[in-house]
Amino acid sequence: MKQVAIIGGGIAGLATAYYLHERGRGAIVCTLIESAPNFGGKITSAREKGFVVEGGPDSFLTTKPAAIELCRALGLSDQLIGTNDAGRRVFVWSRGQLRPMPDGVMLIIPTKVMPFVTASLISPLGKLRMGMDVFIPPRANDGDESLSHFVRRRLGPEALDKIAEPMIAGIYVADAENLSLKSTFPRFLEMEKKYGGLLRGVIAQKRAVPSNGNGKSSNVKPAPSMFMTLRGGLQQMTEAIVARLNHDSLVANRRAVSVTRDGAGYIIALDEGARLRADHVVFATPAYATAELVQNINPTLADALRAIRYVSTATVSLGFKRNELAHPLDGFGFVVPRSEHRQIIACTWSSTKFNARAPAGHALVRAFIGGAHAEHLVEQDDDALAAMAREELRAMMGVTATPVLTKVYRWNKANPQYAVGHQARVAEIDRLAQRAGVSLAGGAYHGVGIPDCIQDGARVAEQILQGSSGAGEPG
Ligand SMILES: Cc1cc2nc3c(=O)[nH]c(=O)nc-3n(C[C@H](O)[C@H](O)[C@H](O)COP(=O)(O)OP(=O)(O)OC[C@H]3O[C@@H](n4cnc5c(N)ncnc54)[C@H](O)[C@@H]3O)c2cc1C
Repeated sequence: MKQVAIIGGGIAGLATAYYLHERGRGAIVCTLIESAPNFGGKITSAREKGFVVEGGPDSFLTTKPAAIELCRALGLSDQLIGTNDAGRRVFVWSRGQLRPMPDGVMLIIPTKVMPFVTASLISPLGKLRMGMDVFIPPRANDGDESLSHFVRRRLGPEALDKIAEPMIAGIYVADAENLSLKSTFPRFLEMEKKYGGLLRGVIAQKRAVPSNGNGKSSNVKPAPSMFMTLRGGLQQMTEAIVARLNHDSLVANRRAVSVTRDGAGYIIALDEGARLRADHVVFATPAYATAELVQNINPTLADALRAIRYVSTATVSLGFKRNELAHPLDGFGFVVPRSEHRQIIACTWSSTKFNARAPAGHALVRAFIGGAHAEHLVEQDDDALAAMAREELRAMMGVTATPVLTKVYRWNKANPQYAVGHQARVAEIDRLAQRAGVSLAGGAYHGVGIPDCIQDGARVAEQILQGSSGAGEPG
């Protein structure tokens, strides 16, 4: 029987273990090693005083089906909940107030004319400049480009500052000047290439949608909400995976400190001196941690992994009595452009976005701190972070109430940065890993979202099952 060791018990490592377990038909013995006391990595949910607080991710995209399919396979269908789409509004902090993002803005592109024309967020000149997209020829060059460069080129600087940078860079907590568009939103590049521009693309796609005569799509099957979560928090998913795995194969609270070759296999040394032997190793750790572990196996691969930069963030969740908040919480929250020089980068109104996040008569909000431009803020202690979040919510939402619940989560070097050229860098990493005979999985490579990480775990499991996971040449 083939012995596989998976190092890192976040969702990528758990998904790899799950698919090996489900599809391996007993031919694989798998050991999952996690340095933290619990499995799940960045997926961590606290259930306290009737609140459900997400420390890391709060939902997953359903247009990439890996996460929703896994939840269904784990028997969690009845726990899936979508966003409260009737309340889907996002605000942008701009010129001293929260202004609604115009209805119909699809991440960076306006798709509806009237709400966009009448919105106060963008100046008349800024709107005119965005409209110029129709006349700007597509770029001849096929290479990667930063988000900033692309948006400035097509839609102008104001669209970048007020819409694209806070919305997209907020997701990636990245520096938009160096965020690879090819690795994050290739569909915008494709739209430009196929239709000649973004607005031209929107018009063409609208024309292509079959209508039932009422101006509505004739497709009557209701699609699941674009973002979904689990009633008791996303941790339900990682708990359900752990429950499916063989408990003898789970090693928590043990850090892998080195991996060395041993004939055709590997020896994994754990802290406190234990050693494990495996025929194959999957590294589902952050790229910088993987770099240390593969140093003995292939130093070139280690160097390539170190080139993926990470930044730190923190989330501060605050629970309030609803009647003590004057703010209507009439949306999913707000984002803050960098040009506003505030201390938080975004705030989610969690109990509006999802049901089952706060007990009756209460509300839950979550502020984000740090990211590529403000990592130093995360170095403060929890009390200081909570005080900073409260002060920002006072200034921006008029919140003066004392929270009944405060939860701070610190994410040190937790957010991989998909810098321009990321795709080529990862192709080289994949090639080196294949040659070294090891597998890599996780949010550093082919997508940061939960569905991407699950898909990555499934891909690695499949390669191991097919016996195509690398020849194992020395580095
Ligand atoms: C605040 C925040 C909000 C997010 N929001 C969303 C969202 O809403 N939707 C979404 O889809 N994605 C979101 N993401 C991204 C997503 O959560 C991550 O990309 C994903 O969870 C990463 O999973 P992973 O398994 O690759 O890594 P991790 O979860 O980081 O798992 C890696 C594991 O390796 C372990 N480890 C490290 N070194 C060792 C070692 N030497 N030995 C043993 N174990 C080790 C770590 O303890 C960790 O558990 C968010 C991320 C953050 C930080």
